Amino acid sequence: MSDFRADLHCHTTISDGTCSPKEVVELAASIGLQGLSITDHDCIGAYLEVGDLAKEKGIRLLPGVEFSCVHRGESIHLLAYAFPLDSAFILDFCARHKQRRILRFERILERLAENEVFLPREELFLSVGTMPGRPHIAQSMVAKGYVSDIRAAFKRFLGEGACAYVPSMSYSIEETLDVIRKAGGKAVIAHPILIRKKSIYRDLLSMDFDGLEGNYACFHKSEEAPYLSDAKQRGLFVTGGSDFHGDVKPRIRLGSSWTSEPVFDLLWSHYQEQVP
Ligand code: AMP
Ligand code: ZN
Ligand code: FE
Ligand code: FE
Repeated sequence: MSDFRADLHCHTTISDGTCSPKEVVELAASIGLQGLSITDHDCIGAYLEVGDLAKEKGIRLLPGVEFSCVHRGESIHLLAYAFPLDSAFILDFCARHKQRRILRFERILERLAENEVFLPREELFLSVGTMPGRPHIAQSMVAKGYVSDIRAAFKRFLGEGACAYVPSMSYSIEETLDVIRKAGGKAVIAHPILIRKKSIYRDLLSMDFDGLEGNYACFHKSEEAPYLSDAKQRGLFVTGGSDFHGDVKPRIRLGSSWTSEPVFDLLWSHYQEQVP
């Protein structure tokens, strides 16, 4: 059996992870990953910091990003890979996401204040790397003693249906796929195993995706099996990734799920064809 492992899903301090891009690459090297993609939410700033380090460590670093979308009122994540890092399509789209996220962040803080949770706005914005997200607010709520842990922050205040929940008001899957196509990237359905509504999953299967994230985080092989068979039936390639976030999701380790060598090679070759 091949010992090749490429974790194609993780987050850094550039979005809502707690390890810096450099720390993630160092960690990837220390656990022997041969390939890695940093898929921060709606931003690719991590790549500015770690291109040389990854080369030095002998890790093939594949460009990636996790886009937030809305489909029939549900929040859905897409992964994009193997696009050129200077793509204006991707960079402009990320800039639009940033504006959307700042507005949402402000609205969540207002809703929290209405619920007697008062967080230090300036301090909180300083703690955010590039892309504000709910985990930053959850961390601040833990630090200020409003909740005992991040899970409780989501359950009681920030998660869907909770008192300070604000919908993400993000872009459609179609619009996001269009950006990925124009940028020359490959589009992958992120963690289908987390999609609760089967009708939404079926919609996604009928759209213009290249791959599906069939191996995810710490799920058991038996739970993943149906997704692998759907991918096969539809001619989608299967990727794998941990969704490592550092201390925000303490149970998830980098490298706990991975992409096989043939699929990684396919994505890597596609990327090599994109860059001069
Ligand atoms: P946002 O991008 O602001 O909508 O926040 C979404 C992120 O919050 C996800 O990618 C997870 O990292 C995190 N998240 C969502 N729900 C939970 C939860 N129940 N517990 C911990 N983290 C969560
Ligand atoms: Zn996240
Ligand atoms: Fe996600
Ligand atoms: Fe993620």
